[in-house]
Amino acid sequence: MENISPALLNWFYANHRILPFRSDPTPYHVWLSEIMLQQTRVSAALPYYERFLAALPDIPALAACEEEKLHKLWEGLGYYSRVRNLQKRPRRSSVSSMAVSCPPTTTLSAPCPASGTIRQGPSLPSASGLPVPAVDGNVLRVFSRLYNDDGLITDPKVKRAFTARVMEHQPPAAPGDYNQALMELGALVCVPNGAPLCEQCPLAHLCQARAAGTALSLPRKAAPKARRIEPVTLAVVRSPAGVLLQQRPEKGLLAGLWQPVLWENETLTPDEARARLAALGVTCTPDAAKALRPAKHIFSHIEWQMQGYLFAADTQPAPAGCVWASPEQLAAEYTLPGAFKAYKKLLAAAL
Ligand code: SF4
Repeated sequence: MENISPALLNWFYANHRILPFRSDPTPYHVWLSEIMLQQTRVSAALPYYERFLAALPDIPALAACEEEKLHKLWEGLGYYSRVRNLQKRPRRSSVSSMAVSCPPTTTLSAPCPASGTIRQGPSLPSASGLPVPAVDGNVLRVFSRLYNDDGLITDPKVKRAFTARVMEHQPPAAPGDYNQALMELGALVCVPNGAPLCEQCPLAHLCQARAAGTALSLPRKAAPKARRIEPVTLAVVRSPAGVLLQQRPEKGLLAGLWQPVLWENETLTPDEARARLAALGVTCTPDAAKALRPAKHIFSHIEWQMQGYLFAADTQPAPAGCVWASPEQLAAEYTLPGAFKAYKKLLAAAL
């Protein structure tokens, strides 16, 4: 196949979206944006991006940030391991070795020649301008269609083969722009849901899936694994001091985040839930618990089917691992994962 980069880059320079991390493409900005965009659409990620940078404007600030604050800045984006991993790297490296920035003259057509040591990770190519590939879901989709290749893109061997192809086309003079152009083409033209917009595609004349009429069936993905259904009982306990929040364990699902008190893999009656709270040291008022609307949350491998009860309590100390959080504290300090979206208003309401 002829080299795709001239047509791709011409299209990219004429059609790319103006995005803050492109207008000011320091390695930190590009790196942060790419971590955010791994599981989030650009339009949804942008407000978080601005908020994050306002609070943590550079790598030293990121490295020094408390985990609680880090989670709060990420609240609403989900997949919190992304932000923990984001912080791990500068904490492991010498901060000064990562505190690189592109010169102010860096433009999209003059890729950032940063000489810093941000190693590995999805944003290295765009952040550093070095000739290495950035192969995300967008790029895999474009290449599986371009070559009409139905290899399973979740298979590491297939991904390596696709990566080699991406590298074959990468122009030495503009590796960062090339990587971004591929991602942009995948996001705007060779789209994931619905039919690709082939009539707008700068690579249409080369595309083998378009010629074969197979674009819609590519890329091939493994059939999703069946999810485990887990019943969860949760208690929204409110007192004059606020709502009772419990911190999740440091490892595992939703690690370190906050939740209403809950019991996984258990379906409890209101009386049983009250007795469990009493065993924790939380005494609720004797009025009947109110059953809340059932809700579900789907993780990649588990589906939580939640039944909630509302309890009232007098002022009392919080048990170990729990806090009474006022609505203001809940808004400013404690990160509640999206799994509890259905109960968020109730949790944030004062007694
Ligand atoms: Fe994707 Fe269509 Fe372009 Fe092929 S021609 S790369 S299927 S948008």
